[in-house]
Amino acid sequence: MFSGLVFCNDCKQKLYYSTTSYFEKRQDFFICSTHRANKDKCSGHYIRAVVLEQQVWKHIQEVISVVTRYEAYFRAEMEQRLRVQSEETIRIHKKRLAQAEKRISELDRLFIRIYEDNVAGRLDDEKFAMMSTNYTQEQADLKTEAKSLQQEIQEQERQAENLEQFIYRVHKNSTLTELTPYALRELVKAVYVEAPDKSSGKRKQRVHIEYDLVGYIPVDELIKAEQA
Ligand SMILES: [Zn+2]
Repeated sequence: MFSGLVFCNDCKQKLYYSTTSYFEKRQDFFICSTHRANKDKCSGHYIRAVVLEQQVWKHIQEVISVVTRYEAYFRAEMEQRLRVQSEETIRIHKKRLAQAEKRISELDRLFIRIYEDNVAGRLDDEKFAMMSTNYTQEQADLKTEAKSLQQEIQEQERQAENLEQFIYRVHKNSTLTELTPYALRELVKAVYVEAPDKSSGKRKQRVHIEYDLVGYIPVDELIKAEQA
């Protein structure tokens, strides 16, 4: 059920799902795909599928609990967090977009110049062909990038809508008694698994859940603040 949703928190690559035995589902596990290909490049991040499911389900239940009990509070807190995050993302994207657009029009001018040079005989045909191919390619790449930046900016600007949509989905799934693949896909975008921490003598392993539409939800903080 988690296939394609689980990533290594260190190298950000997918965790590879491995089923050990047909009858012993409890032993199925995930392992960092980078580690699997080359043990020196990343540590294993080994986690059993059942453990992962328990942790994710526990977190989702907490989110459901906060949203159903304190919806207005949840909305206000998340709105504020999302606004700060998206203002930052929008600012960075707009800056990059302006750079890309500037270079796109610069390339237009450069193209005219090499064309004139070529016509006037200052630039031979071969050189002209090579330069115009390069300019055209660079411009095409920049246009693709600019388009995806614009989409991302629009997405960020729809943040209030996204939050409402997320709250709606939580309500829809609020009576679940166990995690279903459908609910998981509807609520969760990605799960990042940390390497296990054995410093306390006990094996501890944290997972970070990126929810669909809203990203990370600091549910412990929200619960604590509400109860304070
Ligand atoms: Zn890794």
